[in-house]
Amino acid sequence: MSLRPTKTRDRLRIAVQKSGRLSEPSQNLLAQCGLSFRQSRDKLFCFGENQPVDLLLVRDDDIPGLIDDGVCDLGFLGRNVLEEARLDQLASKGTSLLREVRALGFGGCRLSIAVPQEEDYTDATQLAGRRIATSYPRLLSKFLADRGVAAGVVMLSGSVEIAPRLGTADLICDLVSSGATLVANQLKEAEIILKSEAVLVGSTTAFGDERDDILAMLMRRLDGVLAVRETRMLMLRTTRADWPAVRDALPLGSLPTLTQIDGEGIDVAVQAIVPRPVGWPELEAMSRAGARQMLVLPVERMLA
Ligand code: ATP
Ligand code: ZN
Repeated sequence: MSLRPTKTRDRLRIAVQKSGRLSEPSQNLLAQCGLSFRQSRDKLFCFGENQPVDLLLVRDDDIPGLIDDGVCDLGFLGRNVLEEARLDQLASKGTSLLREVRALGFGGCRLSIAVPQEEDYTDATQLAGRRIATSYPRLLSKFLADRGVAAGVVMLSGSVEIAPRLGTADLICDLVSSGATLVANQLKEAEIILKSEAVLVGSTTAFGDERDDILAMLMRRLDGVLAVRETRMLMLRTTRADWPAVRDALPLGSLPTLTQIDGEGIDVAVQAIVPRPVGWPELEAMSRAGARQMLVLPVERMLA
C-alpha cells in the first residue's frame, strides 16, 4: 500500500532546479521534447502551454522530498543527490519510492575522495582514522563501511574543499568534474565513490489517473531525443577505387549508403549514420584513406 497522496491530477508536474548547473539543460531537453511553458510572475511555476505538463522551479536538494510527498511527479536531479536521498530514506524509513527513470547525459561529474597532492595514495585502508568533510555523508559512510574502513565523516553543506585548510577535516569527499578546484586547493582525486550525471527521477508508484498517459507520451519523446543526441550524419565523397579503404576508416558502427556520381574524378558519394560524435582524428584517418569533402551534421530527429 502506498502512503502517497491519492488525490488524482490530470496534469504532470516536474520539479526543475531554479538556478544552477542543471536548470538550463533540463529546460532545453523539455523544449526538445516539444513542450513549451509560460512562467508565472513570481518565476516559481511554469505552466505547460501545449501539453498538460507543468514545472515547479526549486532548489535541487528539495526535489527528492517533493517527489516523495507527491507534490511533484518527476524531477531533474544529479544522481549524487538522488542516491544520497535514497540512502537517507532507507535509513530513516526502511524504504524509498524514489527511482532513476532515465540517465540524461549532461551534468556529468564524480563524487570523489581527495587527498593532499603530496600524499602517496594506494588504497582505502589509508583513510582509516582520518576525518573526511563532505555534503554526502550517507554515500561516503556506505563507501567506507563496504571497505571496512573506520574514518570520521564531517558533514558540511558547502565549501567542502577548504575544510582541510581550516582544520575541520583532513580530507574531503566532494563533486569533481574538471578537477580544477582540487588542484587550486592542492588536492588530488584518490577514490571515485559515484559516477554521476543528471537523471530524471520519479516514483515507483503508478498514478492510476491521466498522468500515466502523459508520462508515457513524455517518455516516448524523451527516448526519441536521447537516442539521436549522440547520432551524427557523415557525408563524404571518394573514388570507387578508394572506397574499400575509406569504408575501413569509417567510425565504428557507421551505416553507410553509397550513391554513384559522375565526373570530377570523384565517383561515389557516401552518407553514413554514425552512433556518436565524429572527432578530428577520425576525419583525418578517412582523409588519408581518400575521403574528400567530408561533412559532419547533427541529427535532430529520427523515426526508424
Ligand atoms: P541549488 O541552489 O539548487 O541547491 P547547488 O549549488 O546544490 O544548487 P549546482 O552547483 O548547480 O547545485 O549543481 C547541481 C548538480 O550539478 C550537482 O548536484 C551535480 O550533479 C552536477 N555537477 C556537475 N558538475 C559539477 C561540479 N563540478 N560541481 C558540482 N556539481 C556538479
Ligand atoms: Zn543544492
